[in-house]
Amino acid sequence: MKVRLAFLYVISTFLIIIIVVLALVKGKKEEIKIEKEEEEEIDFESKENIQLYMSKNDQITEVNLNYYLLCVVASEMPFKYEYEALKAQTIVARTYLYNKIINNLEENGDVCDDYRHCQAFNTIDKLEEIWIKKGFSNEEIKAGEDKIKKAIVATENKIITYNGKIINALFHASSPQRTEDAKAIWSGEDVPYLKSVDNVESLDYQNRNSEVNVSYSTFKNTLIDNGYIDDLDKDTFLSTSIGEYTESGRVKTLKIGSYYIKAENLRTLFGLNSTNFTFDIDENGITFKVLGFGHGVGMSQVGADTYAKEGMTCDQIIHHYYTGVEIADVEEIQKRREEK
Ligand SMILES: [Zn+2]
Repeated sequence: MKVRLAFLYVISTFLIIIIVVLALVKGKKEEIKIEKEEEEEIDFESKENIQLYMSKNDQITEVNLNYYLLCVVASEMPFKYEYEALKAQTIVARTYLYNKIINNLEENGDVCDDYRHCQAFNTIDKLEEIWIKKGFSNEEIKAGEDKIKKAIVATENKIITYNGKIINALFHASSPQRTEDAKAIWSGEDVPYLKSVDNVESLDYQNRNSEVNVSYSTFKNTLIDNGYIDDLDKDTFLSTSIGEYTESGRVKTLKIGSYYIKAENLRTLFGLNSTNFTFDIDENGITFKVLGFGHGVGMSQVGADTYAKEGMTCDQIIHHYYTGVEIADVEEIQKRREEK
């Protein structure tokens, strides 16, 4: 009995020592980690400036490259999104910019501030006003800006290439289930890195589902005024059906009598969030039930955030949405171009 007690005593003492040692080591590690985080003062300013065309006042201003990226990423993606998704958006934004510069695509300056032409650009002051109106606290805003700054520094110089050439890094807000092939939407030209791919989007995002109701007379008049049809009687209107689907399952054309109207045109005419829709029709009008937001080509932002939550890294996200691409250094591309 005594022997057994002594044995238990030794074992428990031994265990206590191990626990104490482990706790000390862990504490030390955490201390080191905290010190390291404090040390990491971000050197955010870039050496480069870009020529930004401000469309509203028709002027070109010189802005710091990294400040431009901060404003674009903060304008294009909610800062609440995962860090890896924000990193992916940063690489996309940088690629979009350098594609304009390298291939001389912009008429005024390197790039413009108009989201309909280039990428959305709101100054940080303007964005802060918007965020405060949305109810974010100063701490949340500061943390959001810091997160994007960190993403910009962490991906410094990184751009996306295909066969050694910089890509046209298209992106959109949401395309539940599948993204769209660029060929299905624009001019039928094959873009090897902008293919339709599987897309997982979690259900709890705004803008995922929407409805647009158009009365019979508005539908008819809009189509006539824009030269798509000559006339539209009630019976023909009621016989409206889907003409064709794209490979990814979006609507390609709507058949109205003997007319086939491109869904992409209907999207613009009636303000549909995407061409991924079904519809109900009756005497009074047509109701489009729309899934997703945007043209559906390239990276889905909601998808990027969903994948990041599942543990995907920024590189994995980019490789998922852009088929067969590489992530390269912009200096390499520019050097190669100058040598030519
Ligand atoms: Zn532009």
